[in-house]
Amino acid sequence: MNPILRGNRALIRSINRSILLNAIKTQGLVSRAALVHITGLSPATVTAITGRLIEEGLVFEKATGDSTGGRPPIMLALNPRGGFVIGIKLMEGHAVGALTDLNATILAKDSIELADKQYETSVETLIALVNRLIHSSGIPTKQLMGLGIGLAGVVDFAHGIVKQNPFFGWRNILLRDVLETRMHVPVYIDNDVNTLTLSEKWLNRGQPEDNFIVITIGRGIGMGIVINGEVYRGKGGGAGELGHVMVDPNGPLCDCGKRGCLESLVSDRALVAEARRNVSPDIADLDDLIQLASEGDAGASGTCRHAARETNRQHSECTRSEINNY
Ligand SMILES: [Zn+2]
Repeated sequence: MNPILRGNRALIRSINRSILLNAIKTQGLVSRAALVHITGLSPATVTAITGRLIEEGLVFEKATGDSTGGRPPIMLALNPRGGFVIGIKLMEGHAVGALTDLNATILAKDSIELADKQYETSVETLIALVNRLIHSSGIPTKQLMGLGIGLAGVVDFAHGIVKQNPFFGWRNILLRDVLETRMHVPVYIDNDVNTLTLSEKWLNRGQPEDNFIVITIGRGIGMGIVINGEVYRGKGGGAGELGHVMVDPNGPLCDCGKRGCLESLVSDRALVAEARRNVSPDIADLDDLIQLASEGDAGASGTCRHAARETNRQHSECTRSEINNY
């Protein structure tokens, strides 16, 4: 057979398998007939793929009662212990990771310090963290289905490339391919706010929303965007880089190399620096600033209010016009 056609068939099978697994996970308990209706796949495809998922132990059959007295319908459900995944957040000085089952129940948690900001050292540290998590959870290595890594900056999710990480100074790092070669499991790399946004979408126990925004303010400022049920990453992977929208061309130097980014003015670090200058040199961290503001200190309150106003203003402008330019 033509290798391209064979490749396309394998890709389609893999996509259909993901669609069905996601549908079973979302529905909780679902019949094959309902899966045909929900996914739009043919009954033959649903039967074939769910059969393989059952063989692999990822899905199991469950007979349910039928109030009409007829034959009880056979339902399908995800087997939460059919496989395990690891999620890691790579931060400025350390990485934190968790190993979970397919219901996102955490079986092991750990963190590890980064010796330096070099990419090669970070890869070895990430592998050490993965091995520690597997060891402490006691799962067989072959049941690890995938590894996901969230980190700050602009990430090309489709190709697994860290295009720009302001904390480490990395540019165009092929992190996914290097880790897949070493770990022999599928690896997914994404901006850390996008990973948080995905968890809000998947694990939100309330009314599922198809259109929403998540904004994080801390060491940096990030934004995750969900449009029509999908995370929107933008053409270059930087759609949520709200923190690097320029506010003041003459402002402080940002980690990204530009001047006056929102992040350089209202992140935790920027707020503390401003409060040290204008309120008290004794302010050690954000907790100190919040404590002073809550005690009624006018200078501390003013610093926080100004930051909130800037963030709100830039968020409105960014979502109106700048998202598509990244
Ligand atoms: Zn910046």
